[in-house]
Amino acid sequence: MFTFTKMEKIVGLLLIVILLLSVGIGFELSRLNPDSELAEALPGHSAAPSPTPSAVQSARPAPTLTPTPTPTPTPAPVVSQVTLAAIGDVLIHNSVYRDAMLPNGGGYDFTPMFSQVRDMLQRPDLLMANSESIIGGSELGLSSYPLFNSPHEVGDALKDSGVDLVTMANNHAMDMREPGILAAAAYWDRIGMPYTGAFVSQEDHDRIRLLVRNDISFAFLSYTYGTNGIPVPANKPYLVNRTQDAAMENEIARAKQLADVVVVAMHWGSEDQMATNANQIELARRLSAWGADIVIGTHPHVLQPFEWVEREDGMRTLVMYSLGNFLSAQDQPLELIGGIGQIEVVKTVKNGAATITLQNPAFTPTYNRYENFRNYRIVPWLELSPGDYDKMNGLWLSVKARMMEKMPELRFFDAS
Ligand SMILES: [Zn+2]
Repeated sequence: MFTFTKMEKIVGLLLIVILLLSVGIGFELSRLNPDSELAEALPGHSAAPSPTPSAVQSARPAPTLTPTPTPTPTPAPVVSQVTLAAIGDVLIHNSVYRDAMLPNGGGYDFTPMFSQVRDMLQRPDLLMANSESIIGGSELGLSSYPLFNSPHEVGDALKDSGVDLVTMANNHAMDMREPGILAAAAYWDRIGMPYTGAFVSQEDHDRIRLLVRNDISFAFLSYTYGTNGIPVPANKPYLVNRTQDAAMENEIARAKQLADVVVVAMHWGSEDQMATNANQIELARRLSAWGADIVIGTHPHVLQPFEWVEREDGMRTLVMYSLGNFLSAQDQPLELIGGIGQIEVVKTVKNGAATITLQNPAFTPTYNRYENFRNYRIVPWLELSPGDYDKMNGLWLSVKARMMEKMPELRFFDAS
C-alpha cells in the first residue's frame, strides 16, 4: 500500500493552501482593476497590465495562521463647506415703490426688480441683506428720504430672491420710531425671515440669530454707528443695536459659544467715500480681536475694499468694508454699482476638534438700472446692455482696483 508519512502530508497540505491563496488573491486583484475588463472589451486599449499572481505573491508576506490584531483606524477628517454671501443697502425711495405699485390698489411687487439677479442670489448657501429702509408697511404710511418707511412687499421680494437673513441696525432704523420696528419685525416673522440688529423686546435682542448649513453654524450680529439723531428710548435700548465696544465684545463672545462662525454686520463709514476711514479700520481690528470671523459693512452707498485682518489665534477675519447700494434711487454713478460679496467657509473636524478656514473671497458686481426714476432693475455686470457697459465699465474698473487694493487675490465675476 502506498502511504504518505505524517511530514509529507503536512508539506502537501501547506502547498495546496499556498496555491489556493495565491490564485484567490490574483483573482480578487484582477476584479478590483477596472482596466482589466475594459482592456478585453476595447481592442487597442493600452491598460496597465494586471498584477500576476506570482508578482502579488512575492510582494506580499506569506499568510500566517496567527491572527493579527486589527489596528485602530485613524478617523479621516470630515470637511464641510458653505458659501456665505451678502448684498448691500436695500433703500426704497418713493420712486422705487411707485414703480413697484400694482394697479387698482393691489399692493406692490418688487420681484421684477430682482428678476435678473435672482439666479445668482439663489446660488450661495447663505445670503444676507441690509434692510436699510424699514418695511413698516402701508398702514404706517409709506415715506421716503429723510424718514423712510417701505412696503412689506420689499420683504417678499428679498425672500423670493433667496435672502436668508436681514440686518436692521442702520441709521434709518428709528425713522418710524418704535412702531416701525415692531411692524417690520412682525412682517419678517410672518414670512419666516430672520432679522437682527433691531428688536421688539429685550428677550428678542438676547436671542442671537443662528443659521446652520452643511453642518456649519453661523451666528449673526448687526450694529449701527447711529440713528440720524433720533434717540433710541433709554428704557428700550434693545430697539436698535448701536456701536458700543463693551456690548459688541460681550455679544461676539456669546455668539462664539453658540456657533462655528460669527458674522458681524456693521453700518459704518463715510457716505460716498470709497476710502475706508480710521474709525472703520480700527473697529475692524477690534471686532477681529474679539472673535468676529466675517465683518460685512454697509452705509457708504458705494463699494469699499475687502481686507484680511490677522488674529492672534492664527485665524483671520474677512472684512468687506462696504457693499454699496443694491437697490435704491440714488443717482451718483458710484451709487449705482453694487453687488454680491461672498466667501467660502470650510469646517474641518479631526479627532473631535473643528477648525474653520475662510477661502476664495469674491465679488459679483451689479448695476442698479433705471430711467427717469422708473423701470428699476438690478442687472448683473455680465448682462449689461452695450450702452450701459460703455457708460459704466470704465468707472467699474477703477472701483475694482480700489476694492482689491488690500486683497490682490479678490476674485471678480465681472467678465465672461
Ligand atoms: Zn445708512
